[in-house]
Amino acid sequence: MRILLVEDDALLGDGVRVGLKQAGFAVDWTQDGQAAKLALETEDYALMVLDLGLPKLSGTDLLKWLRARQLTMPVLILTARDTVADRVAGLNAGADDYLIKPFDLDELIARLNALLRRSAGQVNLILQHGDIALTPSTHQVSKNGQAVALSAREFSLLHELLLHVGRVQSREQLEQHLYGWGEEVESNSVEVHVHHLRKKLGSALIRTLRGVGYVIDKDVAKP
Ligand code: CA
Repeated sequence: MRILLVEDDALLGDGVRVGLKQAGFAVDWTQDGQAAKLALETEDYALMVLDLGLPKLSGTDLLKWLRARQLTMPVLILTARDTVADRVAGLNAGADDYLIKPFDLDELIARLNALLRRSAGQVNLILQHGDIALTPSTHQVSKNGQAVALSAREFSLLHELLLHVGRVQSREQLEQHLYGWGEEVESNSVEVHVHHLRKKLGSALIRTLRGVGYVIDKDVAKP
């Protein structure tokens, strides 16, 4: 999952960036509203974590711009403790959730997973597909009830495909979800991760459409 983090406080921003990365998200971090706007115009994000008090363009104004463009990605806003009015303005401008600083990283991650689940139309805490189960909150995957160990990128790739069962996604789209800015994309990385996922979870799980992309089909394929 690729996330845009917009936070001008260098210490907090870096802490959140590192924490989210460890939780398996690909994170792009910008420190002002204009840079965030540019990123939103050029990149595709599953979600945005947005501080409201920002240089150049406020978080609330950025949100209004985003929603005016009919971009529906979930947005979680970060606000200071004594700013109820800001929080209300942010929610009215189209934010989906908020956290008050200082906040706990685990709570942020739990809320982000809840937003991602909701935006994909998933109400279950566990993504189930045939004998495969993926639990975003604990980062666990099992097959037939047996835990399967996946790397962070393998997990992210499987998560992305399971959130959009039946939708074919190109290699480039999947790379976007797996890598943030400044992270080097190894050549054939998506192919390699798919190969590993098939070895670990069954060769029929992910279907390749040559020259188009990858999909997990709605109907569970017979092995
Ligand atoms: Ca700020």
